[in-house]
Amino acid sequence: MRKLICFLLVFCVLAGAFSCMALEVDTINNLLSSKYMILVNREYTVSSDYVPSDLVTYPGSSYKLEKNCAAALQKLINACAAANGERLVLYSGYRTYQTQYNKYYNKVNQYINNGYSRDKAITLTDQYYARPGASEHHTGLAADICTPSSVNKYGQLHESFGNTAEGKWLKKNSWKYGFILRYEKGKEHITGYNYEPWHFRYVGDIAEEIYQSGLTYEEYFAKLKTAQNKLSSAPEMTIKNNKVFLSAPDGVTIRYTSDGSTPTMSSKAYSSAFSTKNKTYKAIAFYDGHTSAVATVTITKYGDIFKDISTKDWYYSAVSKAVNIGAFSGTGDYTFAPNTEMSRAMIAQVLANINGVDLAAYKGKTAYRDVSSKKWYAAAINWATEQNIVQGIGNSEFAPNTSITREQVCTVLYNATTTKKYTLKNNTFTDQESISSWAKKGVAFCYQNDIVNGYPEGTFQPQHSASRAEVAKMILSYLSI
Ligand SMILES: [Zn+2]
Repeated sequence: MRKLICFLLVFCVLAGAFSCMALEVDTINNLLSSKYMILVNREYTVSSDYVPSDLVTYPGSSYKLEKNCAAALQKLINACAAANGERLVLYSGYRTYQTQYNKYYNKVNQYINNGYSRDKAITLTDQYYARPGASEHHTGLAADICTPSSVNKYGQLHESFGNTAEGKWLKKNSWKYGFILRYEKGKEHITGYNYEPWHFRYVGDIAEEIYQSGLTYEEYFAKLKTAQNKLSSAPEMTIKNNKVFLSAPDGVTIRYTSDGSTPTMSSKAYSSAFSTKNKTYKAIAFYDGHTSAVATVTITKYGDIFKDISTKDWYYSAVSKAVNIGAFSGTGDYTFAPNTEMSRAMIAQVLANINGVDLAAYKGKTAYRDVSSKKWYAAAINWATEQNIVQGIGNSEFAPNTSITREQVCTVLYNATTTKKYTLKNNTFTDQESISSWAKKGVAFCYQNDIVNGYPEGTFQPQHSASRAEVAKMILSYLSI
C-alpha cells in the first residue's frame, strides 16, 4: 500500500500543477450539471428571474445562503476561530438580481456625484462590483467572510484581510469545508474581478481538486468542459476488412487491453487496427487525465466481430460457434444482443437455419394475421408451422415478437427431433407442477440430454423467458446429442 501511495504521489507531481484525480466522463457530466458547480461571472450571467433552490437564513445574520453552503460555512467559521482566535462574520450572502442592480448603480451614481464621467464611473464600479446577473452572490453559494477587526473605518472589507492569520488560514483550509477562494491576487485578468480575500464560493467535495489544481474556477471549469466534450463517447470503432479501427478527437489518447480487463492510463497506447481472433479488446480514451466510457469489441475465434460480447462471458464460446455455423445471426451493427429475450420468430428462424432449410419456397406468403409476408421471419415461420415445430397461438395469430419461455424452447426442440420417448421423473424440479402439461415431454427431453439445466436452488422456472445467449447454448447442446 505504501508503495502505491508513493507511486501516486510521484505521479501527481510529474503530472504537474494540474489535477491528479482522474474523473470518468459520467462523473464530469454529473459535476457539471450539479447546482454546486454553476459558473457565474462577467461572461456567464444569470437571468433576472433566477432564484436558487434551498435558501436558508444563515444563523445570527440577515443573509441567506443555500442550505448545504450555510451548514458548511458554520463549520468553516468554527474551525477558523478555533485555529486563529477571532471569529469570522458573514458580510454578504445571497443577493437577488434587484439587490445587485441597486448596489451596482448606487456605486456608479456615487462616482458620478464625485465628478467622474458616466463611462469612467462604470469602469471604476466594474472593478469591484458585479453587474446585475454577473454576481456569484446570485447563486446563494458565495459568502463574504471577514474578521470585524479587518473591516476599515468606512465599514468596507479590505484587501489587507488576506494578510491576517484568518485570511491566510482561509486561503489554505477552506477547501476542507467545500469552499474555494474565488478571486485571487494576480488572477484578475482571468476571473474578471479584483482580489477579494473574503469572497468564498461553495462547490462541495470538488473543492479539494480545484484547490490542488492551483487554477481559478474559470480555468478549472473550462478544463472540465473541454474534457467533457473530448470524452463524450468511448473511442469510436470502425470495422473494415475484418479489422477494428479506433479513433478519438484531437489530443485524446486511446489505451487498450486485449484480455478483457478495463484499460488504465498505463495500458498499451493504440496505434494500429485489431485483428487477432479469440480476443476481447477494451479501449478507453484519455484526455487531461480524465477518461471516457469503455469501448468493447470481441473478435471471435472464427473471426466474427461483436461489440457486445466478451471472451469472459459464460456464453462466449456458444455464441461464437452458433454464429459461425449459421444458427444465429447478429442483430445488426456488430451486435449479438446476448441478453435480449429470444422471440418466437427468432426460434423459428434458428430452427430453419440449423436444419439447412432452403426457405425460398416459403417466402412471400403467410398463414397468420400478425405475420406480414414481407417480414424477415415470415418464411421461417411458414416452414416451422408446416413441420409442426412451432405452432401459432390460435385465432390465426403467431405472436412473432413475443418472447419465448424456457419450456417453450424445450418443446420446440423436442418437436424438431424424431425420438419421442421422454418422461420427466417425479421430483426432478421443486417447481415441477408449474411446467405446462404440453411442455413436460419437451422439458424431459432437454433436461435428460443436457440441453437445459435447472437452477441451483432446484427449480426449473418454466415460464421464465430465455435470452438469445441461453438459447444459443441450448442449440449447440441440442446439435451435439
Ligand atoms: Zn462577494
